[in-house]
Amino acid sequence: MLVYLNGSLVPLKDARVSVLDHGFLYGDGIYETLRVYDGVVFMLREHLGRLWRSAELVGLDIPLDAQALEGAVYETLQGNGLRDAWLRITISRGPGPLGLDPALCSGATVFIYAEAFKPYPRQFYSQGIRAVLARTRRNLREAQDPRIKSLSFLNNILAKMEAVRAGAEEAFMLNHAGCLTEGTVSNLFFARDGVLFTPSVQCGLLDGITRQVVLSLARRLDVPVREDCFGAQELYAAREVFITSSTKEVMPVRQVDGTHYGVGELTKLLMAEFRKEVSAYVAEAKARGPSVWGYE
Ligand code: PMP
Repeated sequence: MLVYLNGSLVPLKDARVSVLDHGFLYGDGIYETLRVYDGVVFMLREHLGRLWRSAELVGLDIPLDAQALEGAVYETLQGNGLRDAWLRITISRGPGPLGLDPALCSGATVFIYAEAFKPYPRQFYSQGIRAVLARTRRNLREAQDPRIKSLSFLNNILAKMEAVRAGAEEAFMLNHAGCLTEGTVSNLFFARDGVLFTPSVQCGLLDGITRQVVLSLARRLDVPVREDCFGAQELYAAREVFITSSTKEVMPVRQVDGTHYGVGELTKLLMAEFRKEVSAYVAEAKARGPSVWGYE
């Protein structure tokens, strides 16, 4: 397996990053996780847009432009002969002496890793996953804004550990004011009486690319949508719950703590519509030719 590291493809076993990299020492860096369907990176431009927004929010200088990074992404896929994959772009502050000041670092480390996509268990889609409401609260927007897709992931890891301890797959976090935010690696949606609810970005969460796709699908289908602050009681009172992420797409939730949900009609509709959206995106990218598609 080959990975992209600072300008070249190298075998994974030879890929080395300094122990003084501030990504390792302080979690100082950003990343994106993307899904590749039949050789097409889904929503690549949107992911790169978010990567640059994260970089701006932490004052990190990405040492190549978007076109070059796009090229590096396809180079990594091509080098590994991958068509159905997930891919992670990691950019850390880079190596430098101890100390928090980013100016100590000589330049960012750019690392791209891709792997064949392993589907989640089928019953996650047919029946749904289990989730808990975590005691761990989501980082304050005013402390470490969850809009930054940061390498510093302890907040989410602590919540994930609660899920694992409870035998669940995901944990949802409230913010400091008791409003629902998101899962550890996913956005949260729920539905009741034909209305789709999702916590507003104002509550302090990552504005997921998949979340945006689902919101636009719902609007196109004339499904009423409410983006707002909601408490735990509203989630427990919902009839349907699902999560979204680039790798999970639309995945139903069958249980949150002691409350059970079926895989409802709206969830099924959005799962199907999301698949159609992916197919249309892939077909369109291919129709535009190999320069955009990446490789044959
Ligand atoms: N929230 C968090 C905290 C995440 O890590 C992810 C996964 N990247 C998401 C939401 C979903 O975002 P996306 O749809 O862009 O993958």
